[in-house]
Amino acid sequence: MSYQVLARKWRPRTFHELVGQAHVQRALVNALDQGRLHHAYLFTGTRGVGKTTLARILAKCLNCTAGGQGDAGITSTPCGQCDSCRAIDEGRFVDLIEVDAASRTKVEDTRELLDNVQYAPTQGRYKVYLIDEVHMLSTSSFNALLKTLEEPPPHVKFLLATTDPQKLPPTVLSRCLQFTLKHIPPERVVEHLTFVLGEEGVAFEEGALWLLGKAADGSMRDAMSLTDQAIAFGQGAIHHADVAAMLGTLDHRHVLALVEALADVDVARLLGEIAQLAEQGPDFAAVLDDVTAILHRLAVAQMVPDAVDNGHGDRDTVLALAARFTAEDVQLYYQIGIQGRGDMAHAPALRSALEMTLLRMLAFRPQGVPRPPATPLPLQSQRPSAETPAAPPSSAPPATSALSAEPTPPVEPVPPAEPTPPSEQAPSAEPPWATDEAPPMVEPLSSPHPSSGPEPASPEPVAESAPEPAPPVAAEAPAPDTAPPGRLDHAGWLEGFGALKLGGLTRNLAAHCQLKSDDGETLALRLDPSQAAMQAEVHDTRIAKALASNGIERRVTMSAEALDLTLETPQTRDARVGQERQAKALDTLNRDPHIQELKQAFGATFMDNGVMPAGHAD
Ligand SMILES: [Zn+2]
Repeated sequence: MSYQVLARKWRPRTFHELVGQAHVQRALVNALDQGRLHHAYLFTGTRGVGKTTLARILAKCLNCTAGGQGDAGITSTPCGQCDSCRAIDEGRFVDLIEVDAASRTKVEDTRELLDNVQYAPTQGRYKVYLIDEVHMLSTSSFNALLKTLEEPPPHVKFLLATTDPQKLPPTVLSRCLQFTLKHIPPERVVEHLTFVLGEEGVAFEEGALWLLGKAADGSMRDAMSLTDQAIAFGQGAIHHADVAAMLGTLDHRHVLALVEALADVDVARLLGEIAQLAEQGPDFAAVLDDVTAILHRLAVAQMVPDAVDNGHGDRDTVLALAARFTAEDVQLYYQIGIQGRGDMAHAPALRSALEMTLLRMLAFRPQGVPRPPATPLPLQSQRPSAETPAAPPSSAPPATSALSAEPTPPVEPVPPAEPTPPSEQAPSAEPPWATDEAPPMVEPLSSPHPSSGPEPASPEPVAESAPEPAPPVAAEAPAPDTAPPGRLDHAGWLEGFGALKLGGLTRNLAAHCQLKSDDGETLALRLDPSQAAMQAEVHDTRIAKALASNGIERRVTMSAEALDLTLETPQTRDARVGQERQAKALDTLNRDPHIQELKQAFGATFMDNGVMPAGHAD
């Protein structure tokens, strides 16, 4: 015996086998049992939810001969064995007339059809007309139909079906008993598939059925067809991986991992997950859709946990995730997600569009993205380049510790030049120029730079409180801890420069300075002679003021003289760091296999200045 596809083999043959349409089933069974059938029914609902199946069942109920001839034979439980039942099941019953209105919209077609309505049924007791996509009929066709609906012959039942009931004239609507056929939810599909596959003796993984249930999109017929394909694909069994491959669906675990990374505000992991996803060449727009779909379920989970569907068999995971977001964040992320989806049309690359959208979620969350390191040099990653204005005032408080001259915890500043006893529990008391804990985004200085401070090295007592009183610069720099207590050395000048509240010309000038000496009262700066024309006393005052607001009270003298070529200035340091990042970015791009392909296939090259490293302003 040849293989019969599941959708046909398991097509419901009675109302009681109908899956997911209990409300329609009950209404029709009652009407049949009480002999009070309406003459026209309108079923609304998308494809594959069972309109044709319903029509066939109804036709059997009306025409089954097992209960005897005549109207007394009408039953809600057709036998399935008599000639009529079998003819209907096999689709060769002449009194079941199926019409696809989408292909027969002309009034002649409708007239021809309706002309035959008046004739008695040939084979059974009733003629059953199923007019699918009835909203496609032309106005004149509707008028012709309406006449029949107004005075239908007693031996005729109309089943009208449409996906779009709004397009039906009210006059037609008012003459039909209307039922909305429901989308069959994945839960019901999985349940039914579990039953059918059990009967068929086909092995399966439950996760695979959830994929099929989702892909079926409310249609049991589609679910069955897909299951047939999955069985063929898996050579007799249904495996999760096979079905995912067959459907081209994203492995749901990847999407969950993205949302997990959002929950942890872990940008590195987020980008890592996308990179992994990218290896599978996914539809990035679909990825974003899946993420926003989960965000929607998170919002539901937060407010009505019982209402969370088990659409991917992941209900528990979703409930657990929901507890890790605030309701506001979920709403915000969702909004950003769907807007980002719309913007994808304009994005140069879908992957970067996905990345930007997910990053935007984190960037815009009210709490902000936490800065990973909590070191005494908090503002490193925000430091503007020499030409840009100083950081906004809001960043001032942490800045205090960056250039703070006194070795006390930043919470309780003590007047400078009065070193306090070491604080045991406060490694953060470490002065900025005596630490090597720069935030990760800042690359340590690698150029040699011996201290320009005249003071001899004398380890500060406070250094004991720091776990590792190592220099802030690369190992070859011997100087940093040579600064005496409360004195600033050149390394400290470089490190702390970004935190100084300087603007405009003053900042530009200061960026071209090396620290010459600091004796605790006067800070001498050596200005690059090329900038000498700009020099003026007002800048000294401003620098002194900026230092003071960072806890360093000094008179500042700036003198144009030849720079110490072994030292950097804030300006040259920023330029070097920028170049290194640029080179690194180019190198990374050049090693990217996709780019190599582009280069080979099209002779692509990078445009000058077209490559910007991330965190460029740093
Ligand atoms: Zn029968």
